[in-house]
Amino acid sequence: MPITIVVSPSATGKTAHCIRRVRQVLEDRPLATMWIVLPDRLQSVATRRRLASEGGGIGVHIGTFGNLYHEILMRAGRPVPIASEPVIQQLLRAAVQDTQKRGELVHFSPIADKPGFLRVLRDRFAELKRAQVWPETFLDIVKQDKAHLGEFARIYTVYQARLQELEWADPEGLNWLAVEELESEPDLATDWALLIVDGFDSFNGSQLSALKLLGERLPELIITLPGAPDGSRVAHRRFARSFEKLVEVLPNAVVETIADPPYIPKSLSLLEQNLFESISQRFEGGRNITMRKARSPSEEAREALRWLKARIMRDGVLLHECALVTPDPERYRPLLREAGAEFGLPIRFTHGEALTSAPGIAALLDLLELYVKNWPRRLTLEAIRTPYFDLTQYEITSEDAAVFEDVSLFGQVIEGLDQWEEALSRLARAEASPEEDLGEVIRLPRLPRGDEAASFWRRLHAFSERLMPSGAQTTKEWVQWLEDLLEELKFFEQSETTRDESVSLDLRETLRALVLGEVVAGESVKDYQAFLIELRSALEGTFYKEPMDWRQPAILTLRVLEARGLRFQAVAVLGLSEGLFPEVEREDPFLDENIRQALGLEPRLGREQGGLFYQAVTRTDQYLLLTRPYLAEDGEYWEASPFWKSVESLLQEKPVTIRPDSPRSLPEAASAEELLFWAVRRESLPERYTTDLMTRWEQLRHARDIVGARLARDPSGVFEGEILELTDQLRGRYGPEHIWSPSRLERYGTCPYMFYAASALNLEPREPPQPGFDAAQLGSMLHAILEQAYRQAEDLYDPESVVISLRKVAKAEFGTAPERYGFRPTALWEIEQEQFTEALVETVHELSALEVGWTPAAFEGAFGIGDIPALEIIARDEKVRLRGFIDRVDRNEQGELRIVDYKTGSSHLAQSDLINGRRLQLPLYALGAQHVLGLGDPVEGIYWAILAARAGSLRLSRFRYEDQEAEYHGPQGAIDVAKAHVARIVSGVRAGEFPPVPPNDGCPAYCPAATWCWRFEPAGWP
Ligand code: SF4
Repeated sequence: MPITIVVSPSATGKTAHCIRRVRQVLEDRPLATMWIVLPDRLQSVATRRRLASEGGGIGVHIGTFGNLYHEILMRAGRPVPIASEPVIQQLLRAAVQDTQKRGELVHFSPIADKPGFLRVLRDRFAELKRAQVWPETFLDIVKQDKAHLGEFARIYTVYQARLQELEWADPEGLNWLAVEELESEPDLATDWALLIVDGFDSFNGSQLSALKLLGERLPELIITLPGAPDGSRVAHRRFARSFEKLVEVLPNAVVETIADPPYIPKSLSLLEQNLFESISQRFEGGRNITMRKARSPSEEAREALRWLKARIMRDGVLLHECALVTPDPERYRPLLREAGAEFGLPIRFTHGEALTSAPGIAALLDLLELYVKNWPRRLTLEAIRTPYFDLTQYEITSEDAAVFEDVSLFGQVIEGLDQWEEALSRLARAEASPEEDLGEVIRLPRLPRGDEAASFWRRLHAFSERLMPSGAQTTKEWVQWLEDLLEELKFFEQSETTRDESVSLDLRETLRALVLGEVVAGESVKDYQAFLIELRSALEGTFYKEPMDWRQPAILTLRVLEARGLRFQAVAVLGLSEGLFPEVEREDPFLDENIRQALGLEPRLGREQGGLFYQAVTRTDQYLLLTRPYLAEDGEYWEASPFWKSVESLLQEKPVTIRPDSPRSLPEAASAEELLFWAVRRESLPERYTTDLMTRWEQLRHARDIVGARLARDPSGVFEGEILELTDQLRGRYGPEHIWSPSRLERYGTCPYMFYAASALNLEPREPPQPGFDAAQLGSMLHAILEQAYRQAEDLYDPESVVISLRKVAKAEFGTAPERYGFRPTALWEIEQEQFTEALVETVHELSALEVGWTPAAFEGAFGIGDIPALEIIARDEKVRLRGFIDRVDRNEQGELRIVDYKTGSSHLAQSDLINGRRLQLPLYALGAQHVLGLGDPVEGIYWAILAARAGSLRLSRFRYEDQEAEYHGPQGAIDVAKAHVARIVSGVRAGEFPPVPPNDGCPAYCPAATWCWRFEPAGWP
């Protein structure tokens, strides 16, 4: 029985040798049965194509070891059902539970119900089976060992026993059964004329056993391996190990090598011969070997695809002759997908994505979690908004999500149906609309009220009832419940893309498999949460691929392990930076190196990844690109991997560094977007491109002007808040009859663009609700308490009397505040009430002690509101009308006035804030008290910081300021300065001038433009 092991370097024609041999056998025996076994489906497809192109082969079976085992079992009359992944998961879960029930699970008990633990068991049991480690053997080896290994072995035993009881197999168990059949039936498969095993660089225990048994009975067995029989080169070490094992099980094998020189270009051949060797003279990579480093994995992915596109367009390489090899598929997949779409290059990934990463499944899991997580605001809104569910039968549409969001902001809904109910009930009780407060029109969203609000609650409640799970039931019943729900929500009908459709199919399959899994593992009732864990782990273990017609050519993206056996014309190997490839090797926390050795498993350390790199770089017949990122995510330099360095040390050319700012030649661009981007940078678009790209070119120039204006030191022009087109409307809205409030003027004084966003456009920041009151609500409470305390005091000139009144008023005000102001008190609310009351008491005392001779004379004096006339001033020859609410006016014995304006906080109460236009209230209120309310002559004015219980540093009586034109003193000086600001602000608004100018101490958190404003500066940064 000739057994031949063909050991030869890559690209010397091992597969061609095998196909020649197949053709020779067919010539002698045209109907002979033969098998060619390859590592995976990709190679099977490639070999089938190649055989077909060389004359075909009726009777030649091409497949993996799995296919071979299946055939052996069929021939032995012992077909075995193969358990699907969800079924295996169920069996594993049942095995863990059994072990736990028997009290044999201590070490792993805390993680026993975690999906991650089941994944670990699945991987390690598969590995044990591939190495032909029976549960008894494992138990025997670990019986004296650490507790966790014993537990591992016991779960393995229970799992395997259950599989055998059912007469099922997992995919790895097929190996054992096939080997068993081969052992017990010496005549099995003896009619095969030839078995070829090609494209492997290593073999597991069961594969070696099968080869041994088949080698003894078949007329001919050929096994190919890369490398050389002596195995002395570093690059071949990985294969040398496999060669030794093969020779051990097949001692009579003849070892051959192929004498023909490699058929690849000279530089690639030199690379193959010298990889990881030291050489005296470097060689030229030329057009065949290119090394490029790019700033990040994203730019690296673009660079690799750009290079492949150039090979396709310029060198005539076909799409299916190109491959990308990535060491970290999850990192590179989205980057390659995005760049491929932009460059118009179809890419096929050999590996799927976990079903849980599909948007529809993520939305479904979020929906199912709503009940468990107690209806958190964000998930509730997403369930309403997502296009994957049709909620019309609950009379909820996706447009309602905006209303629900406004309700959640209004009612401070954080989580819980009770909070939704409370917010909507409050609105149901409310009358029509708001809202004028302190002279400011407060923009509240259009909230439902009355019956409309009640209807929103009724609909949300109906939806929540439908999602309410029942008590414990079997998986089959839970799946039935879920399928009914999905039908009702028209989940499957909502699929719009082919990806969604493929995901929906996989979901149905997974649900079916869950039921089947329960049938085989045994029925058990579980609560909703346990079912969700089961469902999630089944979905995590299921992978989907975007549907793609395999007949359509595409660039293949391979994982490193898959880059063997296949050949291409152009190959790009990515990720050659430290830690990516070779990947960092770590000991297995579950099966350490000692136990691995004892069990005959592959080691986790010293995996000879150099052999994988050798395989990757020798896959191409023409062009090879090696790339790596040179900057890590934290901006630090990213070291090259030793593999990169070893190739670099062989080549005469230095690797090319692609810097994002370096000018690029336009013909290198791989997409119209890229070409335009590079052309804008060099500020010219050659004429030959203008026909197709002129419109976009003009748009980009326009965008460049905008960016230029926004990057300029001083804001100016139409892209910087100069809104000349709106001047007519602005003059109309803010004309002579408009009544201004000081706070709006101050908003412009703080930053004109903030005024435009907040006042002209009526925008407001939308923050997720937080429990407790906000600053505005606190200010309203404190203002109201102070006003009422003085009004209701028996003797408002006696601070002790005011304090007595204040304590009563505070209790009443705080008691009703949550309902009135619409906030949800926190656990600290009781303590906060006490603290605020004490701060107010201190304010009363300190205010009374501030300066003798002043006594309260008026509170909450309004002007420009209701029937009370507005204050009119002339600014730059134009009339400006103002309104206001003066918190308090004090009077002295001479009848002179002191204006007091309460502030909750104590910032921006200085003279400089008036001088720069950020605080204008005090002097304008002084004017209002004098001219509209007729209270007398103001000689003093203060801001009073309530919580700090002290006056701000601005005092109208002490105001001093001098500019180039005049000196300003005292209240009149402050009034003149304020009037000048009013004139400037009003004319700026009417002229449409709203430049974004961040305040010196940073942009206020309440600025609605902060999320998009290009001049935003965080508070605290001057
Ligand atoms: S973010 Fe800053 S600069 Fe921009 S509008 Fe707001 S306050 Fe002005």
